[in-house]
Amino acid sequence: MSEVIVELSDGFQSKFPVGTTLQDVLSSIYGIDADRAIVAKVDGELVDLTQKLERDCKLEIVTFGSDEGKETYWHSASHIMASAVQMLFPKAKFAIGPAINEGFYYDFDVDKPFTPDDLERIEEKMHKIIEMNLPFFRNEITKSEAVLLFTELDEKYKREILEDITDETVTVYRHGNFVDLCRGPHIANTGKIKAFKLLSIAGAYWHGDEKNKMLQRIYGIAFETQKELDDYLHRIEEAQKRDHRKIGKELDLFSLHEQHAGPGLVYWHPKGATIRRIIEDFWKDEHIKRGYELVITPHIAKSDLWKTSGHYSFFRENMFVLEVEDQEYVLKPMNCPGHILIYQTKMRSYRELPIKFAELGTVYRYERSGTLMGMLRVRGFTQDDAHIFCTPEQAPEEILKVLDFAMLMLKTFGYEEFEINLSVRDSQHKENYLGTDEMWELAESALSSALNARGLKYIRMEGEAVFYGPKIDIKLLDALGRPWQGPTIQFDFNEPKNFNVTYIGQDGQEHEVVMIHHVVLGAIERFFGGLIEHYAGAFPVWLAPVQARILPVTSDLDDYAKMIKDEMLKLGIRVEADLRSEKLGFKIREAQLEKVPYMLIVGKREAEGKTASVRLRSGEDLGPMPIQDIIERINTEIDQKK
Ligand SMILES: [Zn+2]
Ligand SMILES: [Zn+2]
Repeated sequence: MSEVIVELSDGFQSKFPVGTTLQDVLSSIYGIDADRAIVAKVDGELVDLTQKLERDCKLEIVTFGSDEGKETYWHSASHIMASAVQMLFPKAKFAIGPAINEGFYYDFDVDKPFTPDDLERIEEKMHKIIEMNLPFFRNEITKSEAVLLFTELDEKYKREILEDITDETVTVYRHGNFVDLCRGPHIANTGKIKAFKLLSIAGAYWHGDEKNKMLQRIYGIAFETQKELDDYLHRIEEAQKRDHRKIGKELDLFSLHEQHAGPGLVYWHPKGATIRRIIEDFWKDEHIKRGYELVITPHIAKSDLWKTSGHYSFFRENMFVLEVEDQEYVLKPMNCPGHILIYQTKMRSYRELPIKFAELGTVYRYERSGTLMGMLRVRGFTQDDAHIFCTPEQAPEEILKVLDFAMLMLKTFGYEEFEINLSVRDSQHKENYLGTDEMWELAESALSSALNARGLKYIRMEGEAVFYGPKIDIKLLDALGRPWQGPTIQFDFNEPKNFNVTYIGQDGQEHEVVMIHHVVLGAIERFFGGLIEHYAGAFPVWLAPVQARILPVTSDLDDYAKMIKDEMLKLGIRVEADLRSEKLGFKIREAQLEKVPYMLIVGKREAEGKTASVRLRSGEDLGPMPIQDIIERINTEIDQKK
């Protein structure tokens, strides 16, 4: 019998008879450890473990730990779910069932929407199918055979999918009586799924197009152990509790009015606007301290400006365009061209550089309505934008300063962990990028040196830079360890050229300026949405829209409560007095739900002693304290941004 040589990624080689299944190959190499395999990779291609060895090859084990392993695992679970649905709802038609970022879904065409009870029944069936440990069979058939098969099965969505396939052969996968058109690969047996949960039901249009029929989508998740599943479910429960849309409503911070005013546009309520003002004031002060000048630019500009900047050609589909007096205008999607116009009102000398403009610039970008999400993905948002115009020699120092600045901002808002990416050009294909070699080298080294100088870990993303310059992206990890898009520091070799942005150098000649865009928070809306979830709505004292609330025990203490309130207001504390004739316990509970950091309870004794009993939102009781001490304590926390 002829043999083939199998080589592992570590170089280990072994011989096997032709026709040995990959499962057997892995078992003979890894022993019991081969159980971890979800699928395998043969010469870089993902394949089922039931496939047989045909030729010499490089073999890799793919486990749940890898993205490909998870994808296969989750996608296979979607087949199992579909087969359960078929058993319970024989008339159901099947659309698609991919793995997603976390878990999987399948879209079904059914007579009436699924109910939570249906989900339970489907789960039960799935457990049975998993217990039966049915093998997944792969069949390669011709396209016309597939058309025949899915016509017989009356699966119109599968037939539609087939129409778009140009290959002559396709694969179908079968387990039990369920057959699906699928490229694969899949797990070897249904029993491989150890723990799963169906999470939710949603309506979804076929092909995402609302002109098509609305299908029923079931989302699910699966793991190799019950513990992993439990941990995951706990995490999403926590995340749901922290959902900024939910907390935003509960704490009266903001609203969206999709129907009446349009999707992706945020209305900031007084409390949300208060927090935003504090963030913005802090942001402005810190920029001014660092030599930035604040500017303001209009919300619309003629198309001409965006043609010069280049956005009109490469960003057109994301811009809102309007006609005014036969002129085409654009709602600004970026602030940069405006800052360039201000820079160019004078001849600039190297002695003036760096010139740094900053603006909380509200921009509008057209995003498809299906992609919008609360405050995180919107159509109107405020960039905490800044542009540095400097000489090449100044660039490294400026980058270091921006990096320090960004880190200080993030840490002030309680973020301690980050994921940092440095996107550089593909050095094999330099022709795809604007700007000289010299400029790219200078810029990339300025960015990496700054990260190295501060000992920050980062991933160098080769070939990930946009065509006009390298950049640093910083993601902040929140209290649940989830990453949020934060600061960006971006070199730009495009705009200075398009607008001919220059300065007069020491040599008396005109030189092209180095332009650096940066945001130290990201979009204010997205940053705020993230902040709500990070703090779960319990904003630290310096940000809390109401820092203290005075709760008189009886109404004859109202005057004393008002007196404390006035005194605190005078000293800049955001304070309220709850003078409603409600029970104290009720008022405390309400203040706690509103996450007010300080509750000052005043009774007769407190009024006589010019004190208040202090209760924190954590439930901790500090006992009676002199009013002056309370004010000092709160003001110290505000100063220290706690
Ligand atoms: Zn499949
Ligand atoms: Zn910019």
